[in-house]
Amino acid sequence: MSSRNNPNRIKIHRSYTVMDVSETLDVHPKTVRNWIRAGLPVIDETRPLLIQGADLKLYLKQKRKTYLHRCELDEMYCFKCKQPKVPSINSVEFIAKPSGMAQMKGRCGECGKWSNKYVSWRDVNQIWLELGGKLPIAEKHLILRDQTLLNYPLTKVFNDENK
Ligand SMILES: [Zn+2]
Repeated sequence: MSSRNNPNRIKIHRSYTVMDVSETLDVHPKTVRNWIRAGLPVIDETRPLLIQGADLKLYLKQKRKTYLHRCELDEMYCFKCKQPKVPSINSVEFIAKPSGMAQMKGRCGECGKWSNKYVSWRDVNQIWLELGGKLPIAEKHLILRDQTLLNYPLTKVFNDENK
């Protein structure tokens, strides 16, 4: 296995600039910026941009797994069916993580086994639409546990729903 992009090189308690990440992982800074555009969380309102080691590690691990199992945005890898499956929409929950990611939980649409994957909050609305859901996402599908959320696009949705 190539040592490039190796999540084990990342220290979870450190913050990284784009250049730090580029040097640590031996990838082009442009690649790092692409990851940010694709959902790698950054610490808000700092210049230069800072990325938390824990977020980066999680993102890279997830990226690898997703690549290995070739899941679409709305699919989750089912360990019983041994392939990516679309979860049944009623079972799906998005659980807030302090890192700015969300843990997506759901039952395989085919065999009912629970699966998990990590997604960016930025993608949650899109995933929901692809599952055939309507926006705003009902609160029972969102478990926030009072986390301060980075990259959280749903605030307005909540306000509207609470009217
Ligand atoms: Zn299954």
